[in-house]
Amino acid sequence: MVTTHNLGFPRIGAQRELKFGLEKYWKGEFSRDELKALGAELRARHWAEQQALDLVPVGDFAFYDQVLDMSFTLGNLPERVQGFHGDKLDNYFRVARGRTAAGAQEHAGCCGGVAAGEMTKWFDTNYHYIVPEFTADTKFNLDFSRLSEQLREARAQGVKAKPVIIGPLTYLWLGKAKDGVGKLADKLALLPRIMPVYRAMLDYFKVMEVEWVQIDEPVLATELDPAWREAFVTAYEGFEDRSVKLLLATYFGQLQENLDLACKLPVDGLHIDAINARAEVALAAQKLPAQSVLSVGAINGRNIWKTDLNAALEWLAPLAQQLGDRLWIAPSCSLLHVPVDLASEEKLDAEIRSWLAFALQKLDEVKLLATALNEGRSAVAAELAANAAAIDARRHSPRVNNPAVKAAIARIDANLGNRQHAYAERAAKQAALLALPAFPTTTIGSFPQTGEIRQARSQYKSGALDGAGYRAAMRKEIERSVREQEVLGLDVLVHGEAERNDMVEYFGEQLDGYAFSQFGWVQSYGSRCVKPPILFGDISRPKAMTVEWIAYAQSLTNKPMKGMLTGPVTILNWSFVRDDQPRSVSCYQLALAIREEVLDLEKAGVRVIQIDEAALREGLPLRRAQWPEYLRWTVESFRITANGVADETQIHTHMCYSEFNDIIASIADMDADVITIETSRSDMELLDAFDNFRYPNEIGPGVYDIHSPNIPTQEHIVQLMQKAAERIPAQRLWVNPDCGLKTRQWAEVIPALTNMVAAARALRSQAH
Ligand code: GLN
Ligand code: ZN
Repeated sequence: MVTTHNLGFPRIGAQRELKFGLEKYWKGEFSRDELKALGAELRARHWAEQQALDLVPVGDFAFYDQVLDMSFTLGNLPERVQGFHGDKLDNYFRVARGRTAAGAQEHAGCCGGVAAGEMTKWFDTNYHYIVPEFTADTKFNLDFSRLSEQLREARAQGVKAKPVIIGPLTYLWLGKAKDGVGKLADKLALLPRIMPVYRAMLDYFKVMEVEWVQIDEPVLATELDPAWREAFVTAYEGFEDRSVKLLLATYFGQLQENLDLACKLPVDGLHIDAINARAEVALAAQKLPAQSVLSVGAINGRNIWKTDLNAALEWLAPLAQQLGDRLWIAPSCSLLHVPVDLASEEKLDAEIRSWLAFALQKLDEVKLLATALNEGRSAVAAELAANAAAIDARRHSPRVNNPAVKAAIARIDANLGNRQHAYAERAAKQAALLALPAFPTTTIGSFPQTGEIRQARSQYKSGALDGAGYRAAMRKEIERSVREQEVLGLDVLVHGEAERNDMVEYFGEQLDGYAFSQFGWVQSYGSRCVKPPILFGDISRPKAMTVEWIAYAQSLTNKPMKGMLTGPVTILNWSFVRDDQPRSVSCYQLALAIREEVLDLEKAGVRVIQIDEAALREGLPLRRAQWPEYLRWTVESFRITANGVADETQIHTHMCYSEFNDIIASIADMDADVITIETSRSDMELLDAFDNFRYPNEIGPGVYDIHSPNIPTQEHIVQLMQKAAERIPAQRLWVNPDCGLKTRQWAEVIPALTNMVAAARALRSQAH
């Protein structure tokens, strides 16, 4: 008999209950007990929804982040929050976000706010975790309370519980040494200290009569140094005389050179992501010891498409024959990365809806596969036929396939991505036309999302405001932004993006080939959720998307107005994308559509066009060996989008990061005339990339940290720019904030930009 299980379930709740509960608690409108009760209620509901499975994950729930939960379980709290007197949950939020709740003030005097833990991306997903902090003195100390409490709850509910923990190597790999160079030179030095805590944890599981523990080691899907591979052997040999069974879970990629290692570790089972590593399933079946379980992640845990169950059964059936009881079936990874329930989607187009599966539907698919394998396909003949019909309908739908788009993709040639002339020649023509001063000033696109904007948007959505009324309200906001910028004395203006709810959704809504869910929320970090649009078909642009707004903004001023677009790579990386064609093909389709918008803006007389690629870096594959291929098609997509314009049109791009060292040559290849990046937080130290690589075009290193309410002083901005000028010729420098100003208030933006403009003027006069 095939066993079914799940690696993890989304915890935010189908209606984002956890988000709202957390935010109420932080505001002091919800008591700690109410919040804890909400957590218990969500766990209970989610276990009930998974009860058809043979094993259900326990310990995957987190009030903020599962890695932070693990840090607390291991007793690895940053020193700055040790000795906190209040409730553990409040201390947990202090690490997560720098402060506890407004209502939890008992200890504000003795242990107030602290620096929040650093947050970074969980492998190649859009989920962010709180980075564990290590020093040479880090000690670990088991706190089993969270796991025992949740196990007890699960037991009371009759759940067939399989606790989920992050393995010791992945935990160490995810963390950062925080005590400067030299002291903790090697995180592996902590392994001997962390192992006893893990061993104690397994003993406790045994006491609680747990049979299987899922131990996640996704780092096995990355390139590991020999020392780390060796450490895997040491660590897992250290678990040899345990009395619970271990399922070693890998996901997000192929194991490749780590496959042998994973198959040899003394555990009781191995989980492989069969979506990313299908070919390794058969290999693992051969290599695993004769009693070991092979858990196959046959359902994609990262997207929202129905699985082709009949096709899956074709390759699963022989495996089931070969392995018998040793075969387990699950989603490829935790379902944290998909929305909860398709059943909530009442407005979604019925045809598109019939192609989709969210978390609960994915678990139904797991069950169906197992039933077909255990009892024969005839036991689920009707379900399999319905699945086949949906898969077939999607494959042949004219809404998915647009021959004109396919033909345009086939016509792409190398020239499409080339500007007329090289940068130097373009720069001269642009300078003559734009007549900008030295150290030109600009902003990144958005201005504050005011109450008026939000109100107009919600009234428009509810029907209280008609199209014309909404447009008038947005025009008023645009006019306000333009007037403010003129008073501030900025050199290249923006329209402020008032009409955009989101920089990806705005374009998705206007492109053919995109659909939108109502409740398709996925946790991004803490209480933050995103609702990625669904790219389901060949992409085309029925009509211009931004020209009217930009042309209106330009009509209000004599200063150059920047056209503002989101680039193809960012739209792709922030969407649920098709699984029936390579990502690169979807990206090229987006590139052709946005290229038309660029050319229309140019035709409308817009002289400066910014194409944001905020998310280019985060799409980098887990394995470095695959970087060049990703960078090839992403850079080419950007070039296709941007480079059809005349020499005189100035192309800008913006990136929300500045870790450029390893990809700077690709960034330069994009050949944008101007690039703006995020550097303010690191005191320009991120410009190190420019020491070894001479970036050929213009750069605006962000000098105003828009993530903070602090107002930068003129002197500070001048200093930052002087530092930048040590690496980049001053005549190629721009002065700008490090990202859009959407999340700030006008009352913060005006003084900050006043100082920024004053700084640029000071720099100009110094240069003379
Ligand atoms: N143009 C966008 C804005 O200003 C860019 C946002 C981003 O880079 N994340 O809001
Ligand atoms: Zn940005």
